[in-house]
This record gives sequence, structure tokens and C-alpha cells, in this order.
Amino acid sequence: MTEHFDFLAIGGGSGGLAAARRAAKHGAKAAVIEAARLGGTCVNVGCVPKKVMWNAANLSWGLHHAADYGFRVAGCTLDWSDLHRRREEYIQRLNGIYDRNLEREGVTLIEGFARFVDDRTVEVNGRRYSADHIVIATGGRPKRPQIPGGELAIDSDGFFALDRQPRKVAVVGAGYIAVELTGVLHHLGSEATLVLRGEKPLRGFDEMLRDGFMEAAQADTLHVLSHFLTSRLERAADGTITLYAEDGRSVGGYDTVIWAVGREPNTDRLGLENTSVRVNADGTIPVDDYQQTNVAGVYAIGDITGRWQLTPVAIAAGRRLADRVIGGMEGRRLVYENIPTVVFTHPPIGTVGLTEAEARERYGDAVKIYMSRFIAMDYALSADKRRTLMKLVCVGPEEKVVGAHIFGPHADEMLQGFAVAVKMGATKRDFDDTVAIHPTSAEEMVTMV
Ligand code: FAD
Ligand code: NDP
Repeated sequence: MTEHFDFLAIGGGSGGLAAARRAAKHGAKAAVIEAARLGGTCVNVGCVPKKVMWNAANLSWGLHHAADYGFRVAGCTLDWSDLHRRREEYIQRLNGIYDRNLEREGVTLIEGFARFVDDRTVEVNGRRYSADHIVIATGGRPKRPQIPGGELAIDSDGFFALDRQPRKVAVVGAGYIAVELTGVLHHLGSEATLVLRGEKPLRGFDEMLRDGFMEAAQADTLHVLSHFLTSRLERAADGTITLYAEDGRSVGGYDTVIWAVGREPNTDRLGLENTSVRVNADGTIPVDDYQQTNVAGVYAIGDITGRWQLTPVAIAAGRRLADRVIGGMEGRRLVYENIPTVVFTHPPIGTVGLTEAEARERYGDAVKIYMSRFIAMDYALSADKRRTLMKLVCVGPEEKVVGAHIFGPHADEMLQGFAVAVKMGATKRDFDDTVAIHPTSAEEMVTMV
């Protein structure tokens, strides 16, 4: 017998949970199917454990700079396995909270791996479920290059499983995960190297941010190996791992190597061949502006769509979809513009809207750039005199702010409010007319000339 729901989310991660809970709030008979731990990538092997590690790395940075303020903290050491245990206990508490939330809100949790048997039906552990609205929210997993010795390296999931601190570690990749994990490891005391196949990491980000990252890496003595396309890994006689590049160069002595070269979508085992749902060549699912696939009543949200792989994006898309198809809010959808994002480097990067290059391509000479480079008061008593970088990308005679980019301490917490302003269409004049908060770094955002 097939059990029927109004709304069925496949995947109990950021997007699926948000969509099903919102559907239930609108009165739907809703269910979530989850094959692993509730909360998905973000809670279990993504944002949450990453942020804990980033916080730990910031504490370490603070301890190292505490002497600037007269503190004597010599002899502090990190017990990595204790940190790992505490972090996992925190995540288990979150898993429990998600579980209880579903129960309280009347969302059925179906535990197991879902496979489509036709456009309207999925099977989990031999039982069949159908729904008026089926949302595919199965997320992704780390990509692993198929090169000789590739299996010697771990990926971001493996990083979070480490219960001992790597001594010497190479992180291969150039995106968010590569720069974040390298920074965390470096600041926690591992000898970390970021291995790039290009010149700089974070392609697609504003050049000021990319250059700022490279400068900070140099100031922090974080190793960056550029133009090194890893083509082979080999285990040396002493047990360490050597990376070989296509051009014959090699670097070795690593006890840990981490792949951070992107993620691939979880569509391959979903039984989509039994449906008429179209799948892109890279495994992502194409959707229209309303998260609708080519099959009526089947939607896709979050990482599986290949657009803006961020938790709040998956959540926003899921909630708005449920608002529309269950809550009757016609036209409600997520507009994929002006999405703020933070890269948790040291210091962090905060960015929203168009990069300078994108704005120039779109608006040509109508673009005006405001920039600021200053020493944040965080470094007031330090010998470290690194600069915080800020840029506003403005357009037209009214100088509408179409992009805001920050690299410096507290950029992570600073950005959200400015993202509201950019989304509302604020002009440079609006920024200037906002009274500054002193003494902060954020005040520079409203005092640029
Ligand atoms: P997921 O959260 O991946 O959820 C998919 C769920 O579906 C999983 O639980 C999976 O087990 C389940 N599933 C898959 N197939 C099936 C099936 N057939 N049947 C049943 N269940 C299935 N984003 C941010 O915004 N900020 C950050 O700081 C951040 N940091 C990150 C750090 C790392 C290391 C990583 C890897 C990602 C990070 N992200 C961050 C990205 C964020 O985690 C994802 O964008 C988000 O989790 C996507 O949500 P989702 O619902 O699309 O998929
Ligand atoms: P990304 O897609 O962001 O970056 C991967 C990069 O690695 C590529 O762009 C490429 O850069 C480089 N690369 C690809 N293949 C190779 C290779 N064989 N050797 C060396 N380098 C290679 O993937 P991530 O895994 O970093 O992150 C996935 C997504 O998760 C992110 O895009 C982001 O949306 C999300 N995320 C968000 C976070 C946040 O919000 N703070 C944190 C972590 C993840 P190039 O072509 O320039 O060499």
C-alpha cells in the first residue's frame, strides 16, 4: 500500500526540513525522508562543526595576541580530541532538537534512503510513499579527484572525523572549504599548506578580497602553493604523503591531505531514471524561478540545484516553495540576487551583490568605486598592522550600491545589516546619511569618500 502525503521532502537537511516544516505550518500532511542524521550537511559536516572550529581558531589567535594587552598566557595548548568530542556532543544535541521539532510540528519523519519508482512515488525500505508535492532536497557530497593515490587524502567529511590534530597538512582546492579549513588548521597550530591549481583562491569573488586573502596568508605565514595541479599522491616509506604536480614538481611530508575541490550532487542513486525529471550532465537538477522541475508537482531546492550552495538559500527556497504551493501565497519565490555570504577565513570575508568586475561588465562607465584600507582597532596594540579592506560598488548618478565587500575582523557579523540596505536599493548617500558607530570597523562603511 502507498501512503499519501500533501507534501514530501526527500532529504532532512537545511532545505528539506525547512520546506516540510513550513508546509505543515500551513496545514499540510507533510513528511521528510532522511537517510542519515537530521540536519544534513550544514549541521553534521558543514557550517556548524566548521564554525565551532573557526571559533576555536579565533580563540587561538586571540591567545597569541593577548600579550599585546598585557596578558601572560604562555603554555596554552589545544586538546584537539576534547574539542572534537565537545563539538560532536553539541551536534548530537542539535540532531535531537531537529527531531523534536518535527514531532512537535506534526511532520512525519521517514528514516531511510529514498528512491523514485515513478514521477509521483518514492520507495523507502520497501514501503511506498506518494505526495501531491515532492521536493528533492538531497544535497551533495565532497568531490574526490580520480587520480592515482587520490584515496590517500580525506575530504571535508574526513576532516570533521579527525580526532587527532594533523601535524603537517595540505588542503587541495580553491573555494570556500579549502580556504576555511586551511585557515582553521593553521591557526590551531598545524603546519598547513593551501594547494591551488591557479594563482589565487576564491575565483568569482571581488579581486580586492582575493588579493586581501593572499596578503593575509603571507602575513600569517600560511603556506600557499600556487599553480600546482595535483596529479598523483604517493605514500612515502615514512608513512607521510607526497603530492606530485602535472609539471613534475612535488611536495611531501604530509600526514594529512584534504580534498576541497567542490561537491557533487546526490542524484545518482535517487532512481530518477524511473521518472521524467530532467537532470543536468553534472547531476544537478534544473529548476525554473519557482524551484519547479520539468515535472509538475516535483520540485528541487538547495545544493541539488547547483545554485548558491548555502544553507540560508536552501532554507529560503524551501520555505517560499511551501508558502506558494501549500500556503496559497501566489508568486512567492526566492530571487537569487544580492545573496550575502561570508567566507570564514582569518579574518573573515563578507560580500554581497556584484563584484567590481561584474558591475563594470554590466554597467560600464556608470560604475563608481569607493574603497577603504585601514588598520582595525583590533590591532591597535599589536605589532601586526594588517589592513582591513572595504569596497562599495556604486552605479549611476544616484550611486546605487550594487555591491559591498569586506575583508577584516568582524566582517562576518557586519555584513547582514548592509545586505538589507543593498537589497532595499540603498544609495551611497543613504550610507553617508547614516550616523556612524564609533569606534568600530563598520563605521568605515558609512564614511567612505
Ligand atoms: P543537505 O544539507 O546536504 O541535506 C541533504 C540531506 O539529504 C542529507 O541529510 C542527506 O543524508 C539526505 N539524502 C540524500 N539522499 C537521500 C535519499 N535518497 N534519501 C533520503 N535522504 C537523502 N553554508 C552556509 O550557508 N554557511 C556556511 O558556513 C557553510 N559552511 C559549510 C562548510 C562545509 C564544510 C560544507 C561541506 C558546506 C557548508 N555550507 C555552508 C553549505 C551548506 O552546508 C549547504 O549549502 C546546505 O547544507 C545545503 O542544504 P540542502 O538541504 O540542499 O542539502
Ligand atoms: P567550490 O566549488 O566553492 O570550490 C572548489 C574549487 O576548487 C573550484 O572552484 C576550483 O577552483 C578548485 N578545484 C577544482 N578542482 C580542482 C582540482 N582538481 N585541483 C585543485 N583545485 C581544484 O567548492 P567547495 O568544496 O569549497 O565548497 C562547496 C560549496 O559549499 C561552496 O561553493 C559554498 O557554496 C558552500 N560552502 C559555503 C561556506 C560558507 O558559506 N562559508 C563554507 C563552505 C562551503 P579553481 O578553478 O579556481 O582552481
